[in-house]
Amino acid sequence: MAAPWRSPFSDAFPCFDAHVHLHPPGLARAIERWFAGQGWRAGHAFDPAAVADTLRARGVRRFCFFSYAHKPGMARGLNRWLADIAATLPGAVALGTLHPDDPDLDAVAREATDDLGLRGFKFHHSVQRFHVDDARLFSVYERAEAAGHVFVLHVGTMPYRDAFTGVERFAGVMARFPRLRVCVAHMGAFQSAEFLALLARYPHLYVDTTMAMTLLATRYVGADPAAISDAELERHQDRVMFGSDFPLIPYDYDEERRWAWERRLPDAVRRKIFHDNAEAFFGGRP
Ligand SMILES: [Zn+2]
Repeated sequence: MAAPWRSPFSDAFPCFDAHVHLHPPGLARAIERWFAGQGWRAGHAFDPAAVADTLRARGVRRFCFFSYAHKPGMARGLNRWLADIAATLPGAVALGTLHPDDPDLDAVAREATDDLGLRGFKFHHSVQRFHVDDARLFSVYERAEAAGHVFVLHVGTMPYRDAFTGVERFAGVMARFPRLRVCVAHMGAFQSAEFLALLARYPHLYVDTTMAMTLLATRYVGADPAAISDAELERHQDRVMFGSDFPLIPYDYDEERRWAWERRLPDAVRRKIFHDNAEAFFGGRP
């Protein structure tokens, strides 16, 4: 059973959550219903202000949030909503969404970063059903490399393998765009070793810990925290960012953080994982 754990996070030990979901009310309700159908009750309020309040109460000073367009025609409206919400949440970084079936993909991408001020894009390849190496995205990647836009990509095979996930196509994208600033979500599970092996080659490649480091996530997404050793975390200590999946997680927020204390990682490593690396990746204050 979980031992009581006292969260150390405060202004003196700040936390930056690299992986938070905020959706417009209609989409949030649909997602909540879908998860409930899977026997997965998040139990946390989805309203952006409530999410921000909860995070602040947990010592989270900054966070990155996103939504996703699961079909064409949605991205432009969602990006506008994301930018509007970001303006109401001090310290928050918003990423936009894209769908490559949108005929005006490049214009939507430019509007998101240049007009709306979104920091980059989040893709969830299984839900959005497109490949990371879809050639229609190449101009977006090319501009991102030059401008420093960031990507958070759920391109790993957790919770299930399908045609849209896996390290092979992703490795091809990095070979083609080696300066791309990418965070691979969920430690790249279930192919963590393969994704972590790419970190040495690409200086702007990161991973996030979201739902990959707590045993509580095993029954929901099949997480296997034992697949990632303490030695690997220490080796990659400058490229691992804490993420939570809040408010979608069906357990308490701190279950996404206490593993780093149960593993007795050095404090200097924890500070990087829970704050400094995200500051470096997302870059500066908004
Ligand atoms: Zn997520």
